[in-house]
Parts: sequence; C-alpha cells; structure tokens
Amino acid sequence: MHKLSKQGTTLTKFNPVMDDIELKGDDVKDVLNDYERLKRLEEVKTNFLIVTAHELRTPLTIIKGYLEILKERNGEDDRVIRAIDDNTNNMIAIVDDIVTIANMDLGMIELKVESISTLDMLDDLIDRLEEINEIWGDKIILPTDDQILEADRRSIEKVMTNLIINALKYNAPDRKIEINVDSDGHDYILISVKDWGTGIPDEVKEIIFDDFIQFVDSPLTRDYVGMGLGLSVAKRLVKLHNGEMWVTDNPEGGSIFYVRLPKHHAGDF
Ligand code: ADP
Repeated sequence: MHKLSKQGTTLTKFNPVMDDIELKGDDVKDVLNDYERLKRLEEVKTNFLIVTAHELRTPLTIIKGYLEILKERNGEDDRVIRAIDDNTNNMIAIVDDIVTIANMDLGMIELKVESISTLDMLDDLIDRLEEINEIWGDKIILPTDDQILEADRRSIEKVMTNLIINALKYNAPDRKIEINVDSDGHDYILISVKDWGTGIPDEVKEIIFDDFIQFVDSPLTRDYVGMGLGLSVAKRLVKLHNGEMWVTDNPEGGSIFYVRLPKHHAGDF
C-alpha cells in the first residue's frame, strides 16, 4: 500500500505517523523490508499466542471437570477447593481473552448479529456470574429499563462480563455496583457500569484500554490475577460494532465505564 511518485515515495496507511513522510531510493526498500519483517513477527506472535492458549485451555478444562467431582464429594464450602476453583476460573478467563485478542488480530472473529434485549442478556449474565461466585448477584443493581439492540450477543456479553467483574473486584467492599442502560438519542444505546472503588487516575484513563496494561500502583491490582487484557478485549469488541468505550470518575468516588453502541446493525461490521 504505497504510492509512488517521481521524486520519491509517499508511504501511506502503514501507520498514521508515517503519512506524508517523503522517502527516497534505498530508504524505501529498508522501510518496506522492516515493515514486512514486523508484519511477519506480528503473525508469528499471534499464532504463538493462539497455540499456547489452546494448549492451556485443554488441561484447564480437565482440572475444572475434576473440581466438580471434588465439590460433589467434599461440598461447595471446602475452602481449599474454592481457592483452586477461583484461580482456575481466573486462568480460564485469561486464556479466553488471549484467544479473543489473537483471533481479532487475525481478523478471525465472526459476528452473528441478532436482536438482543439488554435486560434478558444481563439476567443471563448474572446467573452465570453467580455460578462463578454466588455472592456476586447480590452485589449488582440492575437497570429496570429494557433496550433492544442488534449486535453479536456473545461479544456484548463478553464486554459486559469484563466490565462487571472489574467493577466488583475494585469496588468498596460494602457497596453494590450499578448498571444502567439508556437510549442515547435515536440511534445509540448507552450502557454504564458504576462502582465506588479506587477510581482511575486521569493519566491512565486512556491507556488502561491498551493490551497488557495494568495500573500497578493500585494496591488492589496486586491482589488480583490478571494480565491487563480485559478492557482491551472489551474495547476492541465494541469498536467492531462501531461503538465507543470510555471511563470517567464517579463524582462520589470510584469509576463509571461507558459503552455506546449503535442500536441498528448497518452492513458488515
Ligand atoms: P485485568 O484483567 O488485569 O484486571 P483489565 O484490562 O480488565 O485487566 O484492567 C486493566 C487495569 O485497569 C486493571 O489492572 C486495574 O488497575 C484498572 N481497572 C480496571 N477496571 C477498574 C475499576 N473498575 N476500578 C479501578 N481500576 C480498574
């Protein structure tokens, strides 16, 4: 994707920073070689991630199976089994995030667009979260308003799961988190997830949506297993739906994460 001119070559679209840079002769060859090399490295990295994640997923699924047997034998309240179960769930979530990111990088995510009732979706989601941790359901205030949107249900569920689990993790222990769904004009819906936790400093409000970013200064972050992929997966999925995602301060302390999505599916995502 380069445009040749008599005086030199203007490289476009490789990277916004490179727009309008004039290069000549060998410089062009070097840049193109570097670009090809980087592209190949990126593909190798992505394939490595997919293979590794798949290899880890199989033993984790087997461990989960044995854990179910142990739970039946020793009861759900066994502290050791619960700790193993929580950590196995954490690892499965990380592996799934890696697979989703790698598939998106390879353009291999298939979106199945359907009509979704936000209330139905959230109800199902809470049931599933309660299977991971039974007290979570009581810690969430759900919206009363329903909205219908056309989107890939699995993607939107993933976005909401990542936001809700983060809000629960970082919230003040005695507070509930609050989810709201509103119509934002005619064409968009606005979903928000509000917590009363540690909050996010202004200087990291944008970069926490990048891959592998954790706000390590937070004492809470150190208490939780994670790879800093949850928000990045969520933002990419929202973007695939032509939506937007951002975070603001909760005026009462804590954070509010927003997801703005088109109500109607316009052509291919
Ligand atoms: P992780 O899986 O490591 O939690 P995320 O991408 O979901 O990664 O989040 C990135 C970082 O953003 C977290 O490590 C945490 O520091 C910060 N963060 C995310 N959500 C919240 C929240 N609701 N309140 C405070 N900090 C948050």
